Amino acid sequence: MLDQLHAGKIAELTARRIALLDELKSDDHYRDTPAVYFGFHDPFDVPLATCDSCYSTAESRRITSGQRKVRWTVACTSCDKQIPQPQKDGWMASLVWNGANLSTQCYKSMPLFGLAHLTPSAAKERISKIRHNLVLRTSLCAVDRAIAEISDSHSKPGLMFQQKLDAYLKWAMHAHRLIKNAKNAGGGKVGDKLGTILNSPGVESCN
Ligand SMILES: [Zn+2]
Repeated sequence: MLDQLHAGKIAELTARRIALLDELKSDDHYRDTPAVYFGFHDPFDVPLATCDSCYSTAESRRITSGQRKVRWTVACTSCDKQIPQPQKDGWMASLVWNGANLSTQCYKSMPLFGLAHLTPSAAKERISKIRHNLVLRTSLCAVDRAIAEISDSHSKPGLMFQQKLDAYLKWAMHAHRLIKNAKNAGGGKVGDKLGTILNSPGVESCN
C-alpha cells in the first residue's frame, strides 16, 4: 500500500516536471522571456529603502531569543514603523520593509532586471515575463527536490540554488509593486504627494 502511494507520488511529480520542462523549453517561452540573467547584483543584498512615513533611514536587526532560531526584523531609526512579522532570512525582512515603503523608491533604480530606461507600461510587460519564467524555474526546482527526497534516481538541486531563485522571484514581485505605484502616481511622472517630498534625502525620483 505504501509502495503504491510512493509510486503514485513519484508519477505525479514526474508528470508535473515534464509539463514544466515542456513550457520552459518551448519556443514560445524562449521568445517571451526577455532575460534569465539579471545583472551582477547579489539578490540576497537588499538595500533598505528610506521610511516613507518620516523619511529617516531604516535598520535591519537580528532577533535571537533562547534556543529559538534566528529571525530578522527591519525598523525605522526614528519613528515606530517596522515590519509586521519577523522573517527567517535577512534579505526577505528587507524586501518586506521595502514593500511597506514604496513611496521612497522607484523601479528605475532597482539594481536588477534592466528597468532603468523603461516607462511603467514597458517595465510592467518586461517584469511580468521575467516573473513567469522565475515561477516556472522555482516550481521545477521544488519538484526536483521533492522527487530527490523520495527517490534515489534523481539528483537534488542545492538549497542555495533554490533560495537564489526564490530571492529573484521576490525581487520581481517587489518590482511589480513599484511599477504599479509609479503608474498610480501618474504614468511614471511624479505624483503631487511624492513631488512635494522629492528633495528629502533617500527619496528616489521616478521621472
Ligand atoms: Zn520612520
